[in-house]
Amino acid sequence: MKSLTFKELHLSRNIEKAIENMGFEEPTPIQSQSIPYIMEGRDVIGQAQTGTGKTAAFGIPALEMVNSKSKKTQVLVLCPTRELANQVAEELNKLGKYMGTKILPVYGGQNIQRQIKVLKKGVQIVIGTPGRILDHIERRTLNLNNVEMVVLDEADEMLDMGFREDIESILSSVPEERQTILFSATMPKPIMKLTKKYQQNPQHVKTIHKVVTVPNMEQSYFEMKHHMKPDVLCRMIDIYDVKSSLVFCNTKKMVDELVTTLKNRGYLADGLHGDMKQNQREKVMSSFRNGEIETLVATDVAARGIDVENIEVVFNFDTPQDEESYVHRIGRTGRAGRQGVAFTFVTAKEAYKIKNIQKYTRTNIKCKKIPTRSDAEEIKANMIATKVKETIDAGHLGKYVHWVEQMVDEDCTSIDIAAGLVKIMLAEGR
Ligand code: ADP
Ligand code: MG
Repeated sequence: MKSLTFKELHLSRNIEKAIENMGFEEPTPIQSQSIPYIMEGRDVIGQAQTGTGKTAAFGIPALEMVNSKSKKTQVLVLCPTRELANQVAEELNKLGKYMGTKILPVYGGQNIQRQIKVLKKGVQIVIGTPGRILDHIERRTLNLNNVEMVVLDEADEMLDMGFREDIESILSSVPEERQTILFSATMPKPIMKLTKKYQQNPQHVKTIHKVVTVPNMEQSYFEMKHHMKPDVLCRMIDIYDVKSSLVFCNTKKMVDELVTTLKNRGYLADGLHGDMKQNQREKVMSSFRNGEIETLVATDVAARGIDVENIEVVFNFDTPQDEESYVHRIGRTGRAGRQGVAFTFVTAKEAYKIKNIQKYTRTNIKCKKIPTRSDAEEIKANMIATKVKETIDAGHLGKYVHWVEQMVDEDCTSIDIAAGLVKIMLAEGR
């Protein structure tokens, strides 16, 4: 199935603006495939792994369908945990920034009187954990008579946590004339039972994993806090003396921010993303090709048009959303006869993504310690060793062997000579 652009989803200008602000360049597969059905009013079962953008997949259509003139609760989202309810509310607030939609997360553990106060003022989209929602229904502090859309987010998790009965009683207190959307990473039997009972002729949208193969190359990942990423990137460029690298970010916004940071620190960097005009992009590309730019920062979309050889390192500054994009990204490195290198930066929040990538690409991505400046010498010595081995393998050393033999005659060992050469090379690299 062809994936759609945000333009092709025909969203309202306000949502488009918010999406631009968030820096999303194109819909993820689950968004591209489920949003059209949800906007048509169909019941939908959406199945995709964690981190693939399911929140916006239901959030965008939910915001689009809310009647801004009515203060009544029109959308109810059920989530398994307080943390998720907050995350969903946050994402929906960003998406609804220009619409003024009233959104409230409600969950146990938060003062119920406060929730009641806000609910009384009128909340158009309520996002809650099943227990607390039921509590409000029983107290009659949440009126669901005007709900037109119910979303079960992370449905499998909710069932695992024992919320089945709560969910069923909530679903029976919302009008039957409604749209029911269910998102889940897995579809075990109890979920299928739930959809049979509460959904009408649902459209099942599933983004399947293709097992993709990765080129044979050195791949490692580094765990760090998000704010450390620019520093670590600069350090690695310095230590490995990288002259040509491609740095991937997940959003246009991140590309712009990172390019500014790198330029401010004196790196020869520039960015590429889908908003740029063709001639601008070509200018950046040709500067990258001829070495005026050493570090090219790009989104996945922008990088599709890149045809540059001799990229030494691909940095995944943001861990990619899925394994396919990982493979596309790292496939860009490698130069004639030599392996490329791929380094992926991973925050605690992104850790599950690297697991998925390893699983579906069937490769082992090594977790490595972030190199410190004092590791630099050892890393460089290793790089020299690799180069020396490659040179030996390539042969044609006769003339040089002759010179070394002469030195050995003059009273030094071949080990002394090699050590001296490494020392000279390290000093020159500084
Ligand atoms: P899921 O619910 O599938 O686990 P989320 O909805 O929490 O995934 O999204 C994961 C991350 O991806 C969030 O930070 C979100 O802002 C981001 N995201 C969502 N859609 C896009 C997109 N189209 N482009 C880039 N990032 C996106
Ligand atoms: Mg989610």
